Amino acid sequence: MLGLMMDRQLTITSIMEHADKNHPNAEIVSVTCDNPRHRYTYAGAFRRTRRLANALVDYGVQPGDRIATLAWNDYRHFELYYGIAGIGAVTHTVNPRLFPEQITYIVNHAEDRLIFVDPLIVASLEKISKDLPKVEGYIVLTDDEHMPDTNLKNAQSYEAFIGRHSAEFDWPELDEKTACSLCYTSGTTGNPKGILYHHRAMVLHTLIGISPGVLDLSVKDVVLPIVPMFHVNAWGLAYGPPAAGTKLVLPGPRMGDGETLQALIEEEGVTFAAGVPTVWLALLKYLSDSGKAIKTLERVIIGGSACPLSIMQELEDKHGVYVHHAWGMTEMSPLGTVNTLKPEMLKLSREEQYAIRQKQGRAAYGIEMKIVDDDNRELPRDGQSTGLLKVRGPFICSDYYKLGEPSDVHDDEGWFSTSDVGNIDPEGYLQLTDRAKDVIKSGGEWISSIELENAAIGHPGVAEAAVIGVPHPKWAERPLLIIVRKEGKDVSKEEMLDWLKDKVAKWWLPDDVVCIDEIPHTATGKIQKMELRKRFRNYTFQPD
Ligand code: AMP
Repeated sequence: MLGLMMDRQLTITSIMEHADKNHPNAEIVSVTCDNPRHRYTYAGAFRRTRRLANALVDYGVQPGDRIATLAWNDYRHFELYYGIAGIGAVTHTVNPRLFPEQITYIVNHAEDRLIFVDPLIVASLEKISKDLPKVEGYIVLTDDEHMPDTNLKNAQSYEAFIGRHSAEFDWPELDEKTACSLCYTSGTTGNPKGILYHHRAMVLHTLIGISPGVLDLSVKDVVLPIVPMFHVNAWGLAYGPPAAGTKLVLPGPRMGDGETLQALIEEEGVTFAAGVPTVWLALLKYLSDSGKAIKTLERVIIGGSACPLSIMQELEDKHGVYVHHAWGMTEMSPLGTVNTLKPEMLKLSREEQYAIRQKQGRAAYGIEMKIVDDDNRELPRDGQSTGLLKVRGPFICSDYYKLGEPSDVHDDEGWFSTSDVGNIDPEGYLQLTDRAKDVIKSGGEWISSIELENAAIGHPGVAEAAVIGVPHPKWAERPLLIIVRKEGKDVSKEEMLDWLKDKVAKWWLPDDVVCIDEIPHTATGKIQKMELRKRFRNYTFQPD
């Protein structure tokens, strides 16, 4: 027997309408190229979103069309998220930090009709625009007064594009499985792959994301997404704040700038922020150099790559900010796990709590996860058995967009292979030890590069650390520790090994430590181990 409940569709239009009616006066504050501190309210934002929707329809944008953005976190990008998806088209957020060839591939693969571009990105887009034959025009995210000189085809300012249109718009009733946004993820091999989100997945992800035990957002919070809006919907922070009525602070192109972040936090009363470990390094360095504080900030989510204990401790001890470690993937919208302690764990010692809090955390409701061995057999949740992590859930991608070949990442029961390797403990906490491709196998046993890196980065002279496996005649592979030293610090191999010796198993100790000037990063701030492996391809360990 079927239940008797209304069949209302779960669409992000409903998030917008909810915020418009219930939180019209909550603010959105942005840093943009043409305004160091733009502010308006949700009511103002959605009024302009309706003008944008009229402009898009008037232009001839059809349901299902892909419309690209190459933009930083600001209010115009926020309006695009809702305006494009609201008319049934697809907001395709492209990462401006990718290589030009990757951007060209992605825009052509998606067959984007229009590109909305930040003024700061116009010059680099001009260099590739001749290779983007399907793009009909470019809309620069500024007003006529600040419009840069450009040879981009049919270029006009955003304000001119929406300016003459009415702020009245009847949003269509969309099927909740209508595609709303598209984000490409750069794998290690082959071309980037597109993840095509639908409205239903975004609404479920939002509801679960803002709930207590996950991000726990409410009207009392002020949110600063330091994670870019082109990286998996800013980890859901383009949708969660309007659903919860939370004030939103958007740092524009200044995401990596400690001074701007500190000023925004203190002046706008930010209580919650989210970002990858590298942005916190930049902010902490600025705070330590300037002696300034971030008093209003209560808690942060750190994910995207493993959060080193030293960042957690510095944020907590020096600045009173509680850190939640989290894990996710573009394919998962992106939320997978968030680390919050259970009440009985609060009685544990500080060290014991940190041991748990360094793990990636427990699955958010809606995410099923398991660890399997090489034969796809589920391993026990004992916190020891380590294997490939598989996931399943209503906001995890079922396939890649227009891949042209069957994807091999789903098994017959619909589980998605994350390519991450780790264990799950009896309390449900996931601990990642590696990416499958980064695993170091020494004498048949696994060495966790993540744990080694975390231990190394805790050294006061180390700014960044990466561990890779290097071929070894006896052990097949042994770990090589690569570090970047902090300015003015000198760290020797002996000192480093001495530092690590009581932090990891003896046989995990790296066989060598090398210092380099800079560790290569991907466009989303992850360490490019592939590049490091290439660079140290011919490296041989010196016999002791
Ligand atoms: P992306 O889709 O670009 O966000 O990358 C997702 C991948 O980043 C995951 O599969 C992990 O390998 C890695 N990742 C994300 N969060 C964490 C974390 N907290 N600890 C370790 N690795 C992480």
